Amino acid sequence: MSEERPNNFIKSLVDEDLARGRCMEVVTRFPPEPNGYLHIGHAKSICLNFGLAGDYGGHCNFRFDDTNPVKEDTEYVDSIQADVRWLGFSWDERLFYASDYFEKLFDCAVVLIERGFAYVCELSPEDVRLYRGTLTEPGKNSPYRDRTAAENLDLFLKMRAGEFKDGDKFLRAKIDMASPNLNMRDPALFRIRRASHHRTGDKWLIYPMYDYAHCISDAIEGVTHSICTLEFEDHRPLYDWVLEKLAWPEPRPRQIEFARLNLEYTLMSKRKLLQLVKENLVDGWDDPRLPTLAALRRRGVTPESIRLFCDRIGVAKKDSWIELEWLEKAVRDDLNPKVKRIMAVLDPVKVVVDGWPPDKVKTISAPYFPDEPEKMGCRDLQMTGEIYIERDDFQLNPEPDFYRLAPGREVRLRWSGYIKCREAVLDPGGRVLELRCAYSEEPTVPLSKKKRPPIIHWVPARQSVPCLARLYDRLFTGPRPTGDLTGELNPDSLIERPDCRLEPAAAALPAGERVQFERLGYFYLESKPENGPGIFNRIVTLKDSWARGRKR
Ligand code: ATP
Ligand code: MG
Repeated sequence: MSEERPNNFIKSLVDEDLARGRCMEVVTRFPPEPNGYLHIGHAKSICLNFGLAGDYGGHCNFRFDDTNPVKEDTEYVDSIQADVRWLGFSWDERLFYASDYFEKLFDCAVVLIERGFAYVCELSPEDVRLYRGTLTEPGKNSPYRDRTAAENLDLFLKMRAGEFKDGDKFLRAKIDMASPNLNMRDPALFRIRRASHHRTGDKWLIYPMYDYAHCISDAIEGVTHSICTLEFEDHRPLYDWVLEKLAWPEPRPRQIEFARLNLEYTLMSKRKLLQLVKENLVDGWDDPRLPTLAALRRRGVTPESIRLFCDRIGVAKKDSWIELEWLEKAVRDDLNPKVKRIMAVLDPVKVVVDGWPPDKVKTISAPYFPDEPEKMGCRDLQMTGEIYIERDDFQLNPEPDFYRLAPGREVRLRWSGYIKCREAVLDPGGRVLELRCAYSEEPTVPLSKKKRPPIIHWVPARQSVPCLARLYDRLFTGPRPTGDLTGELNPDSLIERPDCRLEPAAAALPAGERVQFERLGYFYLESKPENGPGIFNRIVTLKDSWARGRKR
C-alpha cells in the first residue's frame, strides 16, 4: 500500500538547494552505529533518507558509523543490514563504513594541526570539564593550547604509534573556549583507545570522535544532505567548521535536523532496550513487545505498514510523542485488504446443542473475505452438535450493557443459525463448564431493525484445531515511560491462550501467514512445529468497537 508522501520542510530545503544550484543531485545516507538493533525510530530515518533520495532520483548511502570500538559488534552489523533489507530498501554497492576512512580522518587531522586548528591536550577528563565552563560562564583555555604545529604533529604521531597511555592525551580542535555553544569549546577530535575494532582489529590505537568523523565521512561520500535528529542541531556549527577549516571543496554536505520519533508506551533508546534484554525483562531483541524491527517482524507486522506509518507521521522540527494508535492504524490499514478472515476461539467454553444428532455435520461454505466474496474464495465450516464459543461472550448474570449470550437470550452464530441459552452447567467454583442451547436456523425472537441479535464467532468442538495464541499489549503502563524500568512495565503485556481453537480449514495455514481472527484481531502464524500446536501472535487488535476495551 502506498500513499503520496506529503511535502515536508526538508523537501523544501532540498528544492531550494537544487534551484540555487548548490547541488546537482540528492545524496543522503543512513548512518547507524552498530551498537544495537534497529528500532522503529531508525525506520523513520531510513524511510526519510531512502525516500528522499528516491523522490529526487538520487541515492542513499548505507554507512556504518563504527567509530567506537568498545560498544560495537558484527552481530549488530548483520542484523542492521537484514532489517533495512526487510524494510524494503536496497543500497547496491553503496555500503560504507566510517572505519574505512580512519586513514583519511587521520590525514585530515594532520591538516588541521598544520593549519593551527588542532592541538594535543593533556588535561585529565576532570580538568577538561572544569576548563569547559558552563552555559552561563565561558571556559578557560587549556595550558596546552598554544603548542606549535610541529610539536602537536609530533605528539599526534606518537599518539598513533602507541607511545602514550589511554586518556593521557587527546587531539582537540582549536576553536573558541568562550563560545556560547559548548560544542565549539575546543571539542575532542581523536582519543587514544586500546580496543580491538570489529573491522580494523588492532591496527588503530586512536579513534576519531563522532562529530569529527561524521562530517568528513559525509563529505568523502559526496552526501548533499546529512539528515539527523534534533539533538545534533547544536553540533551543526562544528560540522561546518571542520569542513571549512579543511577547505573542503564545495558543494559541501548540509546538515538538516528533524524531530526523532518518540512512540507512546515504548522506549527507543538503545541503551534502555539493551537493559531490557540483558535483565531478561523481555525475551531477547526480537521480543514482539519491543519496538525493534526484529521484534515487529517476529510479531507479524509487515514492512509495508511500517513504511506507511513513517510516511503518515511525516517529519517535523519539533520533538513530540506519537500515539501508538498511529502505528496500529497503519498495520490494520495494510492488512485489512490482504488477509483472510477465519474464526478462532481464544478461551473456549463448550456449547451443547439440544437435540442435535450425534454424528450430524452441517457443512457451510463461507467466504474468506466477506466484503468481496470472490476475492479469496471460500472454505467449509462444520456446524456440529458441540461447538466452542468465547468464554466472555457469555455472562450468567449479564451486566446492563452486555448484549451477547446469557440465560434465556439468543445470539447468532457467524455464518450459521441462532442459539438460545437454556442452561449453564457450572463447576463447584461457579465457573461455566458447558452451556446447553437450543439451535434454530431462523431467529425465534422476531427481528426488529433496531435490535438485531449480536453475532458471535465459534468453532466446531471435535474438528477444531488447537493452537497457542499470544496476545501482546503495551510493554509500559504509562504513555511516556521515563526509562526507570522498575514499576513501569506492564505485567499483562503478554497473555498466552494455550487452549485456543481454530476452525478446521486453518489447519492448512503455512507458517508465516497472517490472518484475521474475526472479532479478535490480526494474527501471525509465527511457527508451526511438527508435533505441537501452531503459535499465533496477535499483531494488532481490531478497531472494531466489539473487541475494543475488553481483554481476551
Ligand atoms: P540511540 O540514541 O537509541 O542510541 P542513535 O541515534 O544513537 O540511537 P544511531 O545508530 O546513531 O542511533 O542512529 C542512526 C540514525 O538513525 C541516525 O541518523 C539517527 O538520527 C536516526 N535515529 C535514531 N533514533 C531515531 C528516532 N527515534 N527517530 C528518528 N531517527 C532516529
Ligand atoms: Mg548515534
